[in-house]
Amino acid sequence: MRRHRQSRILATLGPSSSTPERIRELVDAGADVFRLNFSHGSHADHAERLRLIRDIERETGRPIGVLMDLQGPKLRIGTMAGGKVTLTNGSRFRLDLDPTPGDATRATLPHPEIFAALETGTELLLDDGKLRLRVDAFGPDFAETTVLVGGPLSDRKGVNVPGVVLPISPLTAKDRADLDYGLSLGVDWVALSFVQRPEDIREAREIVGDRAWIMAKLEKPSAIDRLDDIVALADGVMVARGDLGVELPPERVPMLQKQIVRSARSAGRPVVVATQMLESMISSPVPTRAEASDVATAIYDGADAVMLSAESASGQFPVEAVTIMDRIIRQVEEDPAWRTSLEASHVPPEANTPDAICCALRRVTALLSPAATVAYSSSGFSCLRASRERPATPILGLTPHLATARRLALVWGVHPVPFEDVHDVGEMVEHAQTAAVTHEFAQPGDDIVVIAGLPFGRSGSTNLLHIVKIPD
Ligand code: PGA
Ligand code: MN
Repeated sequence: MRRHRQSRILATLGPSSSTPERIRELVDAGADVFRLNFSHGSHADHAERLRLIRDIERETGRPIGVLMDLQGPKLRIGTMAGGKVTLTNGSRFRLDLDPTPGDATRATLPHPEIFAALETGTELLLDDGKLRLRVDAFGPDFAETTVLVGGPLSDRKGVNVPGVVLPISPLTAKDRADLDYGLSLGVDWVALSFVQRPEDIREAREIVGDRAWIMAKLEKPSAIDRLDDIVALADGVMVARGDLGVELPPERVPMLQKQIVRSARSAGRPVVVATQMLESMISSPVPTRAEASDVATAIYDGADAVMLSAESASGQFPVEAVTIMDRIIRQVEEDPAWRTSLEASHVPPEANTPDAICCALRRVTALLSPAATVAYSSSGFSCLRASRERPATPILGLTPHLATARRLALVWGVHPVPFEDVHDVGEMVEHAQTAAVTHEFAQPGDDIVVIAGLPFGRSGSTNLLHIVKIPD
């Protein structure tokens, strides 16, 4: 089962997409990787969804990636007396550690680390940025603020502190428990929310090790300040436009999306563009023209994948949303201007052997238009470097590890194939030809390109490019 597109689709599972039939429909419609969102649902829910995905993977024979998304340090106020109050512009409002339910003059903010990081003039955002407070005075356990933008405020609403780096770990106690559980289930990717600094990735890596690849969700201004360092340490990144557009004005999101995609492509890290891509499809069977255009823009920019959140997790039209995303991507990828756009944003290779091979691959595929590239890749590294070049043919990623194949399901242009290790060049060519034909990428008489590392079985050693014909 091959895809006729290079860019990938990441779909979030939830109440609207938890039966075996529905998940199978999502795969058939085009979902390549599924997100288990640990901000919602029980451990048992996630375990069951993962089990269903693995069943479908066995049925279809196509590796499917699973990304667990950790909630991260999402900050919230406490409860409010009567559930809800209204704050008026210009009034004074106090935040403190007192657990008494709040009212129109104060609320609980059970996060001493926020008070520790405040400065006079710091702005606090409540309820996804709908309400805005300015800090006038503060101590270790309180802040006196002025309401700049008021409105209704109810129990447990989220708090964003865009201007400061908070001295908090990217992993809360809940995240650590979730992470242990997810890793024991065998997820392929772990997404970290509200990453603030490069050390956050190191901290997570100590726990995750090489059991999964780590995706940094970029949704904090402080992460943007350290973008390239974070990209370098992570295995992939997400343009998390939801919280990014709360912490920063929405007009900054389009430029940041392009900046993040550029940085990730340059480093050869898979990049996902996420949130509100087909938002109206939560309750409508068709997208708005603006949404279709938004998905297309991410594809023209050369993102690896586009993501569905509530559209596939809790909306009324999850399968339609994936179907339309698939159609938009394929339409863009048929446009000659898409190629031109990828060429224009091509990033120069590094001066080392694997990149030299992958750079040659790009030239060879442009010159000869072979049917496919077959990349032997045990850790996935060669596939990532080959994909980074955005070559003109699909890449069959042959790997002896199912875990690697699943991780690669998110990567631009890579069709992962679990395959036994090869031992000599003859076997390498033969298996590449067979794989290209079996997976419907090539027919007798077609040229294919093979890249691999000699001696076989050592990762990161790509040093060979071989052009061969599929025998008649
Ligand atoms: P979330 O992350 O859906 O977990 O909040 C994505 C975003 O903020 O855009
Ligand atoms: Mn978020």
